[in-house]
Amino acid sequence: MTALPKLVVGNWKMHGLREHASHLARAIAEGVRSIEGNVQTIICPPFTQLAGVHDIIDASGPTGQFFLGAQDCHTTASGPFTGDISATMLADLGTKYVILGHSERRQAHGETSQIVCKKVQAAEAAGLIPIVCVGETLAERREGRTASVLAAQIESSLTDRFTGVLAYEPVWAIGSGIIPPREELERTAALIVGLLQSHLKADDIRVPILYGGSVTASQAPSILSIGALDGVLVGSASLEAEGFLDIIRVAA
Ligand code: PGA
Repeated sequence: MTALPKLVVGNWKMHGLREHASHLARAIAEGVRSIEGNVQTIICPPFTQLAGVHDIIDASGPTGQFFLGAQDCHTTASGPFTGDISATMLADLGTKYVILGHSERRQAHGETSQIVCKKVQAAEAAGLIPIVCVGETLAERREGRTASVLAAQIESSLTDRFTGVLAYEPVWAIGSGIIPPREELERTAALIVGLLQSHLKADDIRVPILYGGSVTASQAPSILSIGALDGVLVGSASLEAEGFLDIIRVAA
C-alpha cells in the first residue's frame, strides 16, 4: 500500500479579520512552497475569510499540497435556513475539506453524532472531504469511558462508506496545553483503527487518523511518530505562520 500523505490541518476557529487572514495565508503559502515531502496542508479559516484565502492558495500555484477547508456546513444543500452555509456553497468557493463535529460545535450548538452524520452526507454529496472530530471529555476519561464514547461517536457520526478523515481530539486537550501521554495516545489511536475497521462496510477504505488538541511544533515529532496517526489538527498554533510551518516541516 502506498503511504498516505501526512495531513496538517489548521483550524483558525473564530479568528481572523481580513488583514490578518491574508497576511497569515500568504506567509503559509510561501512557506509551504519550500517544504518538500509527502505532506498536505489544509487551512480552515472562518466563513468570511474563505474566498480571500482561496484566492491566495490559488495564486500560490498548483502544488497539490495546499488546500482550503471550512469549519462546518449545514445538513442540506439549500433552503430556508437563515444564517447557515451549505456544503454546496463551500464547494462552489473552491473549498476542498470541511471540519465536522468539532467538540466546540457539539457542546455549544448541541450537535449530536446523528446531526454530524447528516452533515457528512451533505459534504460527501457536494464533493467535499469531511474531517470528522471525535473525542472524550475529561470526566469520561476519568470514568474510564474513552473507548465506549469513541465507539459511539464513530458508529453514529460516520457513514458506512466514509471516505473522509477522522480527527481524534480529546476535549480536555483542546486549548489546555496538555496532550495525552504518548502511550495513551498510541493505545487510543490503535483503538480507533479497530473501531473504524469494524464500522466501515468496505475493506478497501483507509481513513486517515489525525490527532488534535494543543499540538505545537515541539510536541509534533512525538505525536507524528505514532504509526497509526496520519497527521495533526492544529488550533491556536495555526494562527502564527512560523510555528505552523514548523509543524508542517516535522510532518514532511
Ligand atoms: P488547539 O485546538 O490546538 O488550540 O488545542 C485544536 C482544535 O480544537 O482543533
